[in-house]
Amino acid sequence: MTENYDLQKLREDFPSLKREIYGKPLVYLDNTATSQTPKCVVDDIVSAYYNSKANVHRGVHTLSQEMTDLQERARRRVKEYINASSIEEIIFTRGTTESINLVASSFGELLKEGDEIIVSVMEHHSNIVPWQLLGQRKGITLKVIPMNDEGVLDMDAYRKLFNEHTAFVSCTHVSNVLGTINPVKEIVAEAHRHGVPVLIDGAQAIAHQKVDVVDIDCDFYAFSSHKMYGPTGIGVLYGKKEWLEKMPPYQGGGEMIGNVSFSGTTFAELPFKFEAGTPDFIGIAALHTAIDYIASIGIDAIASHEHELLEYTTRRMMEIPGMRIFGTAPEKDAIISFLIGNSHHFDTGVLLDKLGIEVRTGHHCAEPLMHRLGVEGVVRASFALYNTKEECDRFIDALKRVAAILE
Ligand SMILES: *Cc1c(COP(=O)(O)O)cnc(C)c1O
Repeated sequence: MTENYDLQKLREDFPSLKREIYGKPLVYLDNTATSQTPKCVVDDIVSAYYNSKANVHRGVHTLSQEMTDLQERARRRVKEYINASSIEEIIFTRGTTESINLVASSFGELLKEGDEIIVSVMEHHSNIVPWQLLGQRKGITLKVIPMNDEGVLDMDAYRKLFNEHTAFVSCTHVSNVLGTINPVKEIVAEAHRHGVPVLIDGAQAIAHQKVDVVDIDCDFYAFSSHKMYGPTGIGVLYGKKEWLEKMPPYQGGGEMIGNVSFSGTTFAELPFKFEAGTPDFIGIAALHTAIDYIASIGIDAIASHEHELLEYTTRRMMEIPGMRIFGTAPEKDAIISFLIGNSHHFDTGVLLDKLGIEVRTGHHCAEPLMHRLGVEGVVRASFALYNTKEECDRFIDALKRVAAILE
């Protein structure tokens, strides 16, 4: 653990962590769904609404210039954070879901009937359904990379899915249920050997490990601000410039045009071609603050802290009779999905809540994965930079109580 990892001090940055639930101190273990937000990010949003709200790119006046500068500064910060080559490759969206829909819709225009798209069995619905919608519209089929019982993708099976019809690969970096960190560099390299572009869904990776889109060499990378200590309603799509230039606009409106007349319209340069309408410029500016916050702690320090929590909690959970953990890949982020014996995930979640422990239950927007696991749903505990070992202990004690009740 690094010197600047002062957990108690970090926790002071998150006022929500001081809450109580049913008279018990909150233990927030639903970070995979969304992370809590540090005060510096909220302060930035409040301050912008009080002091400097003006629409971006549309005014000659000072406030508009200031807001535009803040938004574009955030774009440069995102570019640095993921090591993209240019700011033209950073498109602001509403979230991972919209980023993937943008690619399915726009890149999808370049695809044709009979083409095939490869996804994995562990995808979030937002990396399945947009491709299915495209498939229905254009007569394109989905092929699925299987996994083994540990939750590791079968790379031999993946290699065999390629044929002359394969047109695109879309795969998650980290599974939001199993925690598996997929070998995205290998996945991309294999696809590129066949001349096939790849989108990586980075929603679950972006706040927990170093992400370098040039090193991964992916063609697209999608993530959400709200899972990385930033505001909700903002997402990012990274895309290689050569693809973005070939792709048609996703939505039409203000900001994305060059010139408009009733006989035709030309489109703005990248990245604005893909940013129709007024964006959440205040949220975008606050995403900058969230990235600075992560950087001030250090992504590697965060990753190693979370990994310690993962190892410790997993080991202690195995003390509980009947405990079934789903996802035991060697390369794994701090996400633990489980069931206690044959008890229902929902009952476990409700009882944990009564003890102040917030976890998520259900299919986690990954029904095909639930089918593969042979369950209807699971309970999921997921960790972030502010969780402590004491909280893990409280979680384990609560689990023991719940297990005794549900026995
Ligand atoms: C959360 C999540 C999404 C969807 O993100 P939104 O912010 O809801 O758009 C997609 N993929 C994975 C792996 C996720 O965890």
